[in-house]
Amino acid sequence: MTALLVALAGLLGLAVGSFLNVVVWRLPRGESLSKPPSACPRCGHSIRARDNVPVVSWLLLRARCRDCGEPISPRYPLVEAGTAAAFVGVALWLGVDDGALWAWPAFLYLTAISVALALIDIDTKTLPNRIVLPSYPVAAALLALATVGTGDWWSMVRAVLGLVILWTFYFALVFAYPAGMGFGDVKLAGVLGLYLGWTGWGALVIGGFAAFFIGGVFALVLLLVRRAGRKTGIPFGPWMLLGAFVGLIWGNGLWDAYLSAAF
Ligand SMILES: [Zn+2]
Repeated sequence: MTALLVALAGLLGLAVGSFLNVVVWRLPRGESLSKPPSACPRCGHSIRARDNVPVVSWLLLRARCRDCGEPISPRYPLVEAGTAAAFVGVALWLGVDDGALWAWPAFLYLTAISVALALIDIDTKTLPNRIVLPSYPVAAALLALATVGTGDWWSMVRAVLGLVILWTFYFALVFAYPAGMGFGDVKLAGVLGLYLGWTGWGALVIGGFAAFFIGGVFALVLLLVRRAGRKTGIPFGPWMLLGAFVGLIWGNGLWDAYLSAAF
C-alpha cells in the first residue's frame, strides 16, 4: 500500500513538473498559464499530446522538435524528473503511519512551489507575488488539514508564530542590509515560517539558520573557485528553500541533540 502511494506521488511529480516548466517560463513574462497551448519557439507548431509526455517524449524525440529539429533543452526533462524525485522523497519521509497521509498535500504543495520559485529566482532574481502571496492561505489550509492527522492543534499556533518570527527576522535583515536581500525574500520567509513552525521549534531554528550556512558556504566556494566578486548577484531564495527542507527533515532531531549536549 505504501509503495503504491509513493509510486503515485512520483507520477504526480512528473505531471506537476511538466506544469512547472510552463509556470517557470510564462509566469515571469506575465503570460497566461493555460493558453495558448505549448508550441515550439522556433517553428511555432503546437506540441502534440504524444510529444508532451514528461521525460519520455524528450528521450523519444532525441531532444529535438518533431517539426523543425530545433534542440529542446535538457532542462525540461530534468525539472520533470527532479520534481518526481522530490515528490517520492517527501512521500517516503512523511510515510503513512499515524495519520501522516494528511500531511502529504501540504508538503507536496511546498515541494512544487519550491521548485518553481528556485528556478524563477535563478532565472530572474525575483520571487513572484503570484506564487508567494496565495501560498499563505493555501499553506495555512493544507497545514490545518495535516493537523487532522496529528490531532495536535498547538502546532497551528506554532505555525503562525513561525510565520511572524521568520518574517520579522528577514524584514529586519532587509532593513539593515538592503543590498543583500529583497522584499521578495521577506514574503517567502513568512510562508516557510508557517511550515517550519508547524513542524517544531527545532525545525524553525535550524531551518532559518541553514539558509545562511548553505548560502554562505556556496558563496565562499564560488569566491575561491571562480574568484567571483563579492558583488556577484546570487539570489538568496534557493538557499532559503533548501535550508527550510533541511530544517523540516532534520531540524527537530538536530535541535534536540544540541540541547541534550549543551545542558
Ligand atoms: Zn519546431
